[in-house]
Amino acid sequence: MIDTLDIQITQSQSSRISEIDFDHIEFARIYSDHMFVSNYNDGEWQDNEIVPYDYFNISPANTAIHYGQSIFEGLKAYKAGDGRTLIFRPTDNSKRLNKSAQRMCIPSVSEEFFMGALTELISLDKQWIPDRPDTSLYVRPFIFSMDEYIGIRPSAFFKFMIITCPVGPYYSTPVKVMIETHYTRAASGGAGYAKAAGNYGASLYPAKLAQDKGYHQLIWTDAKDHKYIEESGTMNIMFVIADTLITPAVSDTILDGITRDSVITIAKDWGMKVEERKVEVEEVIGAAKDGNLKDAFGTGTAATIAHIELIGYDGKDYMLPPVEIREFSNKVLKELNNIKCGKIKDRFNWIYTI
Ligand code: PMP
Repeated sequence: MIDTLDIQITQSQSSRISEIDFDHIEFARIYSDHMFVSNYNDGEWQDNEIVPYDYFNISPANTAIHYGQSIFEGLKAYKAGDGRTLIFRPTDNSKRLNKSAQRMCIPSVSEEFFMGALTELISLDKQWIPDRPDTSLYVRPFIFSMDEYIGIRPSAFFKFMIITCPVGPYYSTPVKVMIETHYTRAASGGAGYAKAAGNYGASLYPAKLAQDKGYHQLIWTDAKDHKYIEESGTMNIMFVIADTLITPAVSDTILDGITRDSVITIAKDWGMKVEERKVEVEEVIGAAKDGNLKDAFGTGTAATIAHIELIGYDGKDYMLPPVEIREFSNKVLKELNNIKCGKIKDRFNWIYTI
């Protein structure tokens, strides 16, 4: 427990919690009562505050708006049956935030500072953590530049903020994905491994073209030959071919997903064969044609385990087996949910309890 952070707390005078229908939570529509804010000035984080969630002023010449010097994280807090607040693998988010920060010339945030801010904020808004099945409190830490300057250079001023919101399932049905072979999300040497705002902005147009054709999401392929599978818009991608769990190895073009790592860890613990390597599009399509593609799913904090219903490639759709008979993804989803909500033992030490 960290209790040494100097955070000024101004409590909200009137809670907006009654705006939430906890039986029908939409994804990220209503934000919790408070937010954390810290300012980077003179080479250090200072003026740490928790204040009522509200708009704030920004210069029209703000560098984050013009040049995208902005990064974020996403993690979730859960309510255990005994009322405790459980956060899933937050120190891994802290580490990844700093990896993104380094790539984007953004100052780092120490793990102690990150955890302290998170703990204070979530404790204050703990009544916002939903407890219905498949719900949680989504936590969004982010850092962006604050210089008022339209020349291009690394900024000197930044804001580190955390906001939270109750969420239900990200996808309400199994997803239809399309393998993208023209547009590129990330090239080697770029910032694909960082959770940098611009990566997401640039992915919207290709994803929209796929949505216009009836798909929910894209599966990105490598920038050079569009021959190897990379990841999806907000998820890593996994396949079960015959009896083996196969997923693209992480690289500088793929986000090192925390859900991905959790699924791999559980699969190995269960004695399943796991391969992290380059995955050719042709291998997956070939397996779908032969009936060897037993399971395919995305992994991510927001989406948890998103079953893939079908894969579109080269103008054709390849159907996967019915979701009900997919052994691995259903079992691992249940296991992960049970760990996150404290229903089973936290044997990998993933849970941070407030
Ligand atoms: N890839 C991308 C591009 C993402 O935005 C996310 C969501 N953070 C993921 C993969 C999954 O990562 P995680 O399991 O850590 O949420």
